[in-house]
Amino acid sequence: MTLQVYNYLTRRKEEFVPQHPGLVSLYVCGPTVYDHAHLGHALGYVSYDVIVRYLRYLGYRVMYVQNITDVGHILDSGEDRILKGAQRERVEPMELVETYTRSYFDDMDGLGVGRPSISPRASGHIPEQIEIVKALLAQGHAYEVDGSVYFDVASWPAYGELSGRKVDDLLEGARVQVRDEKRSPVDFALWKRAEPEHILRWPSPWGWGYPGWHVECSAMAKRYLGETIDIHGGGIENIFPHNEDEKVQSEAANGVPFARYWILWGTLNVEGVKMSKSLGNFVTIKDALARYRPEALRFFILTSHYRATVNYTDDSLTAADKGLQRLLDAVAAVRRAIPRAPDADAPADPAVLDSLADYKAQFLASMDNDFDTGGAIGVLFNMARESNTLLHGADPASRATLEAVDALYRELGADILGIIPETLDQERSLGLEEPLIDLLVRTRQDLRAAKQWALADGLRDQLTELGITLRDGPDGTTWQADR
Ligand SMILES: [Zn+2]
Repeated sequence: MTLQVYNYLTRRKEEFVPQHPGLVSLYVCGPTVYDHAHLGHALGYVSYDVIVRYLRYLGYRVMYVQNITDVGHILDSGEDRILKGAQRERVEPMELVETYTRSYFDDMDGLGVGRPSISPRASGHIPEQIEIVKALLAQGHAYEVDGSVYFDVASWPAYGELSGRKVDDLLEGARVQVRDEKRSPVDFALWKRAEPEHILRWPSPWGWGYPGWHVECSAMAKRYLGETIDIHGGGIENIFPHNEDEKVQSEAANGVPFARYWILWGTLNVEGVKMSKSLGNFVTIKDALARYRPEALRFFILTSHYRATVNYTDDSLTAADKGLQRLLDAVAAVRRAIPRAPDADAPADPAVLDSLADYKAQFLASMDNDFDTGGAIGVLFNMARESNTLLHGADPASRATLEAVDALYRELGADILGIIPETLDQERSLGLEEPLIDLLVRTRQDLRAAKQWALADGLRDQLTELGITLRDGPDGTTWQADR
């Protein structure tokens, strides 16, 4: 099976074939750094972290560029997010973006999200943006009005190809603007003249000004990845106008397709309402990391499909944390059992190796199916059920067998999904007590099998008094020492 991805450009699943064998060029729209990142950002960047990990797992060299928007993010209302943030905090705009750029990277590090290959800042690529604007003017796709330059949507018949928006519908819905200097309400700014209060500004052929938000992504993608990139990532909420405008201006300027696959993530809701700064219902990544371990946040995000709308509630995160714990208990039990497994020199059990190969094939088939991480996690739970059985069976598994199980947990759960930590708290060996506790747990299972319920329950209660908690689940019984 080969990797299939859902391409928003064609609105269907397609086989993923990069332009150059073995090499993937990937551009993902990064954050606007005017405040702390929230869980909506975590959804997107954890999803892409796994997409990149998986592409690398498949053997591709991935050139991953993700920009930092530190200038030019102007809302439709005309509000400049960064200037407004600087006023709010009474700091220089560049001080604001430096603070929140660092905060963003701290959050991503905390979530176990790998750094992009390059994290270019928009403010560091003004000449490249000016070059694109000049090319569009020279080819008649843009016009200047009083120091500002706009893209002429009427000059580009394919406008709306990505987002599915139709120019006529957009015109119908456009608000009548007072003193609009644009030729058409659907035209968008490539370069804006700087009014005196606008501190972030640069000289250009059209006077002092600053770039529009969309043009920065076009410029940085071209600078580091070339005129046609393999994958363009971002949130579905930005498909219009941001992604559409990026695509149109890049293609008009360069004369070649901009991105071959548009892979966009879904939306994070809070109690059914979209999480956003403007709605005030956002949970910062820092808040969430103070309450939950990073693997639980990743697990919560990855149990849904990356294109889905995910609903965040405290209950759903608590449930995710519990679900993850069941998996980690199984992994820890295997790791604890390895040093004291019998037959240190015996080869691994071929039947178990076959079964592991099956789990791996199922896991990879899920990932190949448009990065179906939820399906992949389901495979890990099936594997956990089997590994618990292996530990508590009549015939103890050999050391090599258990090492093979642990190696597959590490390969799939740690390296690809990042939900199993390198070392687990419960894998610390308790020394000699441990085989004895295992023996008592097995004895209790024997008692239950013989329907000696009172004796089995009594044994469990006495273990609880000693600080050993037993957990009966569909995957068998695991235990944890409360200390
Ligand atoms: Zn972008």
